[in-house]
Amino acid sequence: MKNKNLLIVISGPSGVGKGSVIKELLSYLETIELAISATTRKKREGEEEGKDYYFFSDDIFDKAIKNDEFIEWCIVHGNRYGTLRKEIRRINNKNKLGLVEIDTKGANKIKTSFPDALQIFISPPTIAVLEERLKRRKTESKEDITKRISNAKEEIKKIKHYDYVIINDSIFDSSKEIEEIIRKRFNL
Ligand code: 5GP
Repeated sequence: MKNKNLLIVISGPSGVGKGSVIKELLSYLETIELAISATTRKKREGEEEGKDYYFFSDDIFDKAIKNDEFIEWCIVHGNRYGTLRKEIRRINNKNKLGLVEIDTKGANKIKTSFPDALQIFISPPTIAVLEERLKRRKTESKEDITKRISNAKEEIKKIKHYDYVIINDSIFDSSKEIEEIIRKRFNL
């Protein structure tokens, strides 16, 4: 990548399938790599340190903020999440394009340091479908699901700030749509 200020930002409500769409996309678009975020959220079953997130204690997260290690960080669903500067550097050093999967507030903040970032929002077909998916996932409590649905409604209001909105009906179709957008935008 000649321009190191290039970045792909993907946002969307919790449970919309962002992770699955991104996983599918990365399985065939090798010029892109996911930047692993740091979080103070507790590790879910099956999650791995350095693969899903860097799981930081509150103290370590505080230190990282103080040392200016984040491009952006936000409180999402009651926990802190942040994009690490060194992750983007690590990816760019491999001559690859970084992709960050962050919430709408983070996406807005990142515009300051990466004004040319490609911003994509993945939306559920309806809120009812999203609620169903969150329940099926069985990783959050009832209260957590209520919080995530209420946040989703707020997040969906921000779609006008994104370059593209993808309605996720099918993981494969959504990933292909995003691939096309990326190829066009970055001449891949
Ligand atoms: P989860 O707890 O389900 O893994 O993620 C919750 C939310 O945190 C998701 O909507 C995700 O986009 C957001 N998120 C993950 N990493 C970051 C980050 O580095 N910065 C910000 N602002 N949000 C993040």
